[in-house]
Amino acid sequence: MNTKFTKQLAIKSIIFIGAIALFSLFPKKTQTASSNSLAQIPPFDNFPPKFLKPRKPQIQPSPATTPTPNPPEQPLIFAPPAQFIRQIVYKASISNSKVIALTFDDGPSPETLKILEVLQKHNAVATFFCLGRNLREYPEIAKKVVQAGNAIGNHTWHHYYHDVTEKTASNEIDYTGIHIHRSTGAKSLLFRPPGGRLNNGFADYAKKKNYVVVMWSIDPKDYQQLPADTIAHTVISQATSGAIVLMHDGGGPRQQTVEAVSAIIPKLKQQGYSFVTVPQLLQLQAEEKQQNGDLKPK
Ligand SMILES: [Zn+2]
Repeated sequence: MNTKFTKQLAIKSIIFIGAIALFSLFPKKTQTASSNSLAQIPPFDNFPPKFLKPRKPQIQPSPATTPTPNPPEQPLIFAPPAQFIRQIVYKASISNSKVIALTFDDGPSPETLKILEVLQKHNAVATFFCLGRNLREYPEIAKKVVQAGNAIGNHTWHHYYHDVTEKTASNEIDYTGIHIHRSTGAKSLLFRPPGGRLNNGFADYAKKKNYVVVMWSIDPKDYQQLPADTIAHTVISQATSGAIVLMHDGGGPRQQTVEAVSAIIPKLKQQGYSFVTVPQLLQLQAEEKQQNGDLKPK
C-alpha cells in the first residue's frame, strides 16, 4: 500500500514539475508572438544578460591584461622643422655651436662608397641629394647611405637645367621620391634643384609639395675637377657655423672630392666643428631660436 502510494506521489510530482516547466516556457512565446512587428523585437544586446551566453573574458579583456602590441616602427623621414617647409635655405644661423653640413649631389654612384668610407672613418655624417635614375641603378648604395646615418634628398630624375612644365617637374621629383623610398625605406622632404636653378619650375613644384629647397653657402667647385687641396682649402677657409657645403659624389670620377673630404673633416674637427645632416642643422637653428626666445625678458 505504502509502496503504491509512494509511486503515485512520485509520478504526480514529476507531472507537476513538468507542468511548471512547460508553463514557464509559454509566457515568453506569447510575448514574442504578441509583438507583431519585427521592429519591436529588442535588439540582441538589450536582452537581459541571463538569456545570453556568458561572455568569455577574452572578448572584453580588461585593459590591464591586454597585451600591448608593438608600436609600429616610425617611418624614417628626412624633413626640416616646420618653419623651413616651402622655404629656400642657403645656410643655418647657429651661433652657440660649431656645426657644418657637407652635401653631395648627383649620386648615388660607386664614388659614393668612397665618400661613405671617409665619413665613417671620421664618424661624420652628410646629406646626399640623389638623382632618381641613379637610385634606380644603385639602390643598394643609397641604402648604405641611409644606414650609415646620413640624410638623403631629392635632386630630380634627369638633372634638367631647362624650364619644365609642372607635369615634368612632378614626374622628375615624385618618381625620384618613390625611388628614394624604394631603395632606402625613407621619405625625404629635402630638395636641391639641379644647378641650383630656382626659376625653371622645379623649386616651385618642390615648395608646393612641402619640400625645403636646400641651396648652399660654400661651393668649392669640385665638379671642375680641381685639385683636392684646392677644394679642401676653399671649404676650410670659408667654413662658418651653419654653413652648407656643395660637393658631388656622382657625374664622373670624384677622386679629388674624396681626397678633399679626407682633409676637410679632420681639419675642421680640430677647429671644433661637428658634421651634421641638413635636417639636423636646421633643427639646431630652430632650437637655438627657441632658446633665445625663451631667454628674452617678457
Ligand atoms: Zn646636380
